[in-house]
Amino acid sequence: MKALIYHGPGQKAWEEVPDPQIKDPTDAVVQIDTTTICGSDLHILKGDVPECVDGLVIGHEGVGTIVELGSAVTTHKVGDRVVISCMSMCGTCEYCRKGLTSKCQKMGGDSWQLGHWINGTQAEYVRTPLADLSLFKKPEGITDAEAVMCSDILSTGYEIGIINGNVRPSQTVVVIGAGPVGLAAMLTSALHGPSKVVAVDMDTNRLAQAQSKFGATHAVNSADVRWQNELLAIVGKDGADVVIEAVGIPATLEACWDIVKPGGYVANVGVHGAPVNLPIEKLWTLNVTITTGLVNMITGPMMLDLLDAGKMDVTPLNTHQFKLDQFMDAYDIFSSAAKNQALKMVLTK
Ligand code: NAD
Ligand code: ZN
Ligand code: ZN
Repeated sequence: MKALIYHGPGQKAWEEVPDPQIKDPTDAVVQIDTTTICGSDLHILKGDVPECVDGLVIGHEGVGTIVELGSAVTTHKVGDRVVISCMSMCGTCEYCRKGLTSKCQKMGGDSWQLGHWINGTQAEYVRTPLADLSLFKKPEGITDAEAVMCSDILSTGYEIGIINGNVRPSQTVVVIGAGPVGLAAMLTSALHGPSKVVAVDMDTNRLAQAQSKFGATHAVNSADVRWQNELLAIVGKDGADVVIEAVGIPATLEACWDIVKPGGYVANVGVHGAPVNLPIEKLWTLNVTITTGLVNMITGPMMLDLLDAGKMDVTPLNTHQFKLDQFMDAYDIFSSAAKNQALKMVLTK
């Protein structure tokens, strides 16, 4: 088969590799019908994820058709159309039972396996471990391009942003970073009824998209040095009830300390590669709660149900379409997202 292979920092190629095989009885082999690129794949290509080795097939999002099943898989059959969870989970270990599936012990404590520790979904076929819980049935009423947004980003924005941030009706919510994950947090915040949702980014196209298509009530451009004043004029001088960080750099997380309201929540979603300054001497008297986390994907089936019921519209995320053999072009567009007004690249068989 053909697949997108990582060859060390800055190096990748669409090339021929052996077809994946069933290794464990709980595996499936899935033909990839639709896949996409995540911001985390760009982190891998930059060399920020050193455990990714030369020769790895990257990618952890996808929709496909089951072509082979291990003998222990009971809830799927060959021919089923499925959405691949970015996390692989057993459902029975100590952590899975608590809902902390990202720490699944059957996966050695790190459920982000696909396109990280093992070959992933940017390929014609993929082996998916623990298939019973790690593949979701694709509802017939939605397209592949909609369903693929449920492999990772919708649940990431919701579980790590909205749920961890404890968003409640009438609250003010600020989302720093209007990439696909930040936009997913804005979109799913509507499930909890906030009064104001403020998008913060430096990409004017993404800010406009956030307001017109993803439920942001306000947008603040953080390229302006006075952006925090502008933001406080919107949410009130004491700050916002919930601040969600969806960028992954020290400056944007450190900004959260200045704009969260006493008693509020700072929910970190961004993947950080450097330490940040935590002014605990100031924050402790403010009764602020700070949360972190890796997505558990337990809301994946719920997101699929919501899309199937027409309760959320993810079609504006799908800005660029390609065939699988155009992966190199798709990466070029996604790597210059602001210039290309890009959100998600959707690649089909
Ligand atoms: P992305 O790179 O597409 O989006 C990041 C956005 O931040 C961009 O729109 C960029 O313009 C904006 N930005 C950059 N610097 C900024 C600044 N100083 N101020 C304001 N905005 C700024 O990434 P994405 O795919 O949306 O992912 C967002 C983050 O979430 C990444 O760090 C990603 O690795 C992480 N992530 C976390 C999890 C998890 O489980 N916690 C899962 C998936 C992704
Ligand atoms: Zn991802
Ligand atoms: Zn488990």
